[in-house]
Amino acid sequence: MSNMTNRFPNWPMATESEEKELLEALYSNQWWRMTGTKVKEFERIFAEMHNAKYALGVTNGTNAIDLLLKSFKVKEGDEVIVPAFTFISTALPVMSLGAIPVPVDIDPGTFCLDPEKVREAVTERTVGIIPVHMAGHLCDMDRLMEIAGEFNLFVMEDACHAHGGEWKGKRAGSIGDAGVFSFQQFKLMTAGEGGALVTNSQELYDLAFLYHNVGRPFGDKKYQHLVEGTNYRLSEFQAAVLLPQAGRLAEQNQRRERNAKILNEEIQNIEGIVPQGRLEACTLHTYYMYMFYYNPGKFGGISRERFVEMLNEQGIPAYIAYTQIHDTPIFKEFAANLDGSYSFPNQLNCPASRKVAEEVIWIHHRALLGDEETTRGIAQTIREIQSGVEARI
Ligand SMILES: *Cc1c(COP(=O)(O)O)cnc(C)c1O
Repeated sequence: MSNMTNRFPNWPMATESEEKELLEALYSNQWWRMTGTKVKEFERIFAEMHNAKYALGVTNGTNAIDLLLKSFKVKEGDEVIVPAFTFISTALPVMSLGAIPVPVDIDPGTFCLDPEKVREAVTERTVGIIPVHMAGHLCDMDRLMEIAGEFNLFVMEDACHAHGGEWKGKRAGSIGDAGVFSFQQFKLMTAGEGGALVTNSQELYDLAFLYHNVGRPFGDKKYQHLVEGTNYRLSEFQAAVLLPQAGRLAEQNQRRERNAKILNEEIQNIEGIVPQGRLEACTLHTYYMYMFYYNPGKFGGISRERFVEMLNEQGIPAYIAYTQIHDTPIFKEFAANLDGSYSFPNQLNCPASRKVAEEVIWIHHRALLGDEETTRGIAQTIREIQSGVEARI
């Protein structure tokens, strides 16, 4: 069996550039963003990379969402549309403000919000939409922006998988009112933890800055606390390791695109495996994850969990897909405690989302950062597992 252990690049990638930047921050004696230069420089570069006027570094992606919800003045009882299939952090900050995340079905091909279903879910209480660019495939931003305009909703792009991704040449995060990014260890750029938001609105940026800085404007020396903010600041060390990665992202996105294409070609001939679809309008898919449906019936009945274990044994960093938002215990508890005027818990019928949550497997993006032969090795491993189980039955 072709074992892939140690065949893929490490993630995160530690290079001399990260070391140099970290040491610079260390000996600058400025470890705080207010007095240092690294966070400011990173924000300038990150905004530029996303064709956005402003970027703000923050503690993590979850906090970036929270910060923006506050900046959009989301309040108790407001409804915010989220995809039914996403990582929980898209919905958690909505719940913690006492607002209602309304899970809406996704497209079974792209795994991104279905705009028609979004339209159907809008009520008088709806204030915004948080589309998630799943695995790095951008949502249909044309139709979502049209619906948002029609009903006067904010659009916060959850671009935690989509650093540098594109929809018709426009960068992730810069199409809606704002976009959020994560720099958690698995993500496409990382400081172990960390996050950022981007926006073209000065008003929104100024407000987000206040909320992230305990309510104080930049350079405040008078202990002004203008809003009920908290401390969501990024440190100079985090920005130091992010700076060199910003320089590598474009090349890595290209490499993942190229390798994903190769893998798609290989994998489409394997019965029982169907990869995430791709719209032409998504001009750059970042492939944070390589996602595919798995049909155990074509693999001698071995369960998805066991199949993932078998991939892991062969050195492939594979995982099962997220649980649907409304199937998590925390959401169920939240929904059960809402007053009777919210009917959505009975309307949660998201067949595409359910199918993805139950059938999909994903492979971490570092597996797409190798060469062509390594990439073909992933498909080869899957074929070998398949013929192995066939030989036994
Ligand atoms: C990772 C992630 C987040 C949250 O990011 P953290 O930095 O881990 O808080 C939010 N949304 C999605 C879709 C994510 O994958």
